[in-house]
Amino acid sequence: MKVLRNGSKELIKEINRFKVLNIIRQQYPISRSEITKHYKLGTSTLSYIIEDLKELGWINEVGEQSSTGGRRAKLLEFNQDFGFSVGIKIEERQILIALTSMEANLLSRASIPIEKGVTPEHVVKVIEEEIMKLAKAQRKNLSDLLGIGVLSSGLVNRHNGTIIRSSMLGWRDVPITEMLKIQFPDTQIFVDNNINGYTLAELTKGEGKENNNFLVVSVGAGIGLSVVIDRKIYYGSIGGAGEYGHTTLVIDGYPCHCGQRGCLEMYASEFYFENRGQELINQYPDTAIENFSFTEVATRAREGDKLAQTLFEGLSKYLGHGIRNLINTFNPDKIVMAGEGMEYSDLFMEKVQNMSHNNFFSKVDIATDLVESTLKDEAWLEGASLLAINHIFQEPIYEKAKAKS
Ligand SMILES: [Zn+2]
Repeated sequence: MKVLRNGSKELIKEINRFKVLNIIRQQYPISRSEITKHYKLGTSTLSYIIEDLKELGWINEVGEQSSTGGRRAKLLEFNQDFGFSVGIKIEERQILIALTSMEANLLSRASIPIEKGVTPEHVVKVIEEEIMKLAKAQRKNLSDLLGIGVLSSGLVNRHNGTIIRSSMLGWRDVPITEMLKIQFPDTQIFVDNNINGYTLAELTKGEGKENNNFLVVSVGAGIGLSVVIDRKIYYGSIGGAGEYGHTTLVIDGYPCHCGQRGCLEMYASEFYFENRGQELINQYPDTAIENFSFTEVATRAREGDKLAQTLFEGLSKYLGHGIRNLINTFNPDKIVMAGEGMEYSDLFMEKVQNMSHNNFFSKVDIATDLVESTLKDEAWLEGASLLAINHIFQEPIYEKAKAKS
């Protein structure tokens, strides 16, 4: 019983420390009295925590701010350079890596080309070498590397850090965090799928600053979805929530790489161009399309190629229906469109907007915003790094609750 009580005392101490640290992290520069407005703590307890955090190097005391009573309050600031984190995105033909501050601001980045179908062992080796190289160039000590966040396509088990299945990479049951741990044993390493990583950046730096319930849909080589409910990503049972690309849009439609038929991804992403393009190509002898990649079809459509334009018309229609289904299912504040396909949004977004606006809620004048993400391409890497950073700063009680679920 005594042990138990001591244990919970320690836990409360830890929780208090994380609460204070997170308030400073999110709102700095901030004074002691402002902190107690957000979280009630006795003066001596707060002083003790602040001294502790200062000693650990997580926060600094900076300048002074005169308050109305003439008293001068010292301000506290989060030290984002206390350590550093790494964000990684594994793509089919390249690995993107960035070193970031503890606020996920990019310090340096690199992209390393890989062959299609390389082994996980090779990818891990490339990642390890590149982290060393970038850290050296930035004069960073590897002992200050606090977190690594890895984003991959496919189904990911974020609890045990495994890529369960990525058809794009051709991987099954790859324990990616365990593999990286061998080289970085003292670093916290996490894995998630691409779109959830991007959504972490939206939550911190993009649409999530103003919206609590929103969806992020990525369009391009495939279709991705991330669901944010009350500012948290909804993960489902093992982390697979959001396999929206594999919801059935056309019964008995085109066969999908997932084993089903008629999946949305076969109609509202690059796959559609190949599927429908092969059916139509003989009717368009003058087409200049050389292959059915998103970039090629989009470039030709902009040049006025009739087949390319027909393909985009089809994609817009299916994607519009898909977005409408999402609005009707989730009633979100907003849907944010992202992904490499958005570079060519002029070719399809207007039609998608029109179709999706004709939804269940529009009949009762409840509008759902459909917007293009304003984040830049580096959001993938910022989000990957945030995956690790958010875990590092997670209050201990959440960790306990999660371990049980
Ligand atoms: Zn499918």
